[in-house]
Amino acid sequence: MILRLENIPEQGLDLRYEEGKEWFDEHLKEVAGSDYVYRAAILIHLLAHRSVEKEIFLTGSITTEIEMLCSRCLERFCVPVVSEVHYAYLPESEKKLDAEWDPKDLEGPDMGYYNGESVELSPLVAEQLLLDIPRFPICREDCRGLCPQCGTNLNEKACHCALSAPTPVEGPFSTLKGFKPKKG
Ligand SMILES: [Zn+2]
Ligand SMILES: [Zn+2]
Repeated sequence: MILRLENIPEQGLDLRYEEGKEWFDEHLKEVAGSDYVYRAAILIHLLAHRSVEKEIFLTGSITTEIEMLCSRCLERFCVPVVSEVHYAYLPESEKKLDAEWDPKDLEGPDMGYYNGESVELSPLVAEQLLLDIPRFPICREDCRGLCPQCGTNLNEKACHCALSAPTPVEGPFSTLKGFKPKKG
């Protein structure tokens, strides 16, 4: 989606649109490979304002659902993703105006630059979503995961590994087991 400066009126622009599978595959799949699968349209709702200095301010939200792998049991499941957006685009020319100015003062995850009279919003939408996609998603709070020995999905059935497991390797203090302090 291209946001044109001239299309933002003084009172702001209420921008609602959605992106589909094609967009998802282009912008997110490449980052995460088959770990992310498109499940629902990506709904983008942003309020755009502009200043006299051509700064563009965006606030709003991005919501979707992504199919992911549970990091415990490796089953696929759906994760709702909600991203809050607070972002400012400054015109590239503003950057060059003041050579003394340290970009670190202003540049951060919530600010970027744009060139010309319009901004392509896709990189921002993808970046914001990536920030809010869980790193270690779990399919449910009490997911039991896989048995580390036989690989059984413990959500589905129990295995007997825990029962027949060999005695654990003795720790460094095991030699103290039979130790009795001398009576003084
Ligand atoms: Zn799970
Ligand atoms: Zn097992």
